[in-house]
Amino acid sequence: MVEKTKGVVSKLPVNQILSAIIEDGLELNASFIHLEPINNLIRIKYRVDGSLINGPEISKKRLNSLSDKIKNLANIQTGYIDLISGGKFKYSHKDQEFSIRIYIMPTIDGEKITLRVQSNMPVVTTLKELGFWGNGLDVINQAINLNSGLILVTGPSDSGKSKTIASLLESIIDHSISIATLEDPVEYKISRATQTQINHRTNLSFKNGIKILLKQDNDIIMLSELANSESIVEALDIVGHKKLVVSSLNVESSVEAITKLLDYGISPSSLAYGLRIVINQRLVRRLCPNCKQYITPDKTSLHKINQLFDLDNATSMKYVHSQEVEYYQSISTDEKHNHKSLSTSENKLKKIWINNPSGCSDCHHTGFMGRIAVVEILKNSPEIERLIMTKSKDILINRQAVKEGMINYLVDGLIKVLIGETTIDEIISLTKSNYLT
Ligand SMILES: [Zn+2]
Repeated sequence: MVEKTKGVVSKLPVNQILSAIIEDGLELNASFIHLEPINNLIRIKYRVDGSLINGPEISKKRLNSLSDKIKNLANIQTGYIDLISGGKFKYSHKDQEFSIRIYIMPTIDGEKITLRVQSNMPVVTTLKELGFWGNGLDVINQAINLNSGLILVTGPSDSGKSKTIASLLESIIDHSISIATLEDPVEYKISRATQTQINHRTNLSFKNGIKILLKQDNDIIMLSELANSESIVEALDIVGHKKLVVSSLNVESSVEAITKLLDYGISPSSLAYGLRIVINQRLVRRLCPNCKQYITPDKTSLHKINQLFDLDNATSMKYVHSQEVEYYQSISTDEKHNHKSLSTSENKLKKIWINNPSGCSDCHHTGFMGRIAVVEILKNSPEIERLIMTKSKDILINRQAVKEGMINYLVDGLIKVLIGETTIDEIISLTKSNYLT
């Protein structure tokens, strides 16, 4: 499964073992590499697209020398490490430079070492490539070209919010617009913006940064995250200065963003008039285009899908079919060739895409390649403004948003299963803490 470390890794000198482990991780595009000492072995595991892949097992006799080597690379005195902040070192692979941060936890079986891998030049892609399409994409494009207002990108941790914000700012067509950011930390290089890292040591807080940016006559201000009520008040204050603000919030749904801000004590009128759109998203694994399979689901799976999305109801079925048609029409002719045909008719679901369980060499035999966002986009409207002003329940705001065209993120996920981007199991895994309306 894992190329370089297969087989003989335990016999190699420690330098080579470590390079093999790291290079396998980089080839797999892993975000974390775990070295877990359990009994007599060190188990290597790679976090790839949100899931763990098992690597080789190495004799635990090599743990101390591996640990010393890693600490050495990070310039940490052997035998001592700041457990909380860890250390880091740079690693070059195929002309690309990576930053590898180390976290070490002493366990009863020895040190458990986790390496967090970050590319020094993460790629910003288009919103379409991230998973936005159709009417939702049009709504975003209109909002980002407005003169003022608040655009929120929301979702749980590790849902790709920063990448969406970076792509959003890159997508602005008008080059005469001045864009500035205040970030903690800066994660992506945005060619359209002047970016600033928050630095508490030099008193460059969000609050002070905003004061300067307002004086500097910027059109769009991006704040990396609204972490507390104070920052939200500041963001809405910038909107009051006729600026467009783009920021993120850690919540589970678009509607929850609204209710959470109201719970923070934000004035309903400033939110109702300031808010333009709320994007909510989370990431699912993307099917490997080379080995994905197009199948007729068996009775049990079909029943499960019909039940989850209420597809035995003619109106729901027709709605899902119309969304699949819209997605199909939004993709290019080249992409259409890969999608064979529509997976639904007006009255039934016929086929779905699944991962090939044994995968292929392109996807390291996982059946998946990268991740795609499952999204919902709530657009503010006179009726939603009214619901915000009266502090209505989230379910009422959600119902109104769906009535006005918002596609629930789980339905968006189902469309992505029908069109061949992900699997139904990936979407079902998102339902555990959520509800459909
Ligand atoms: Zn494959």
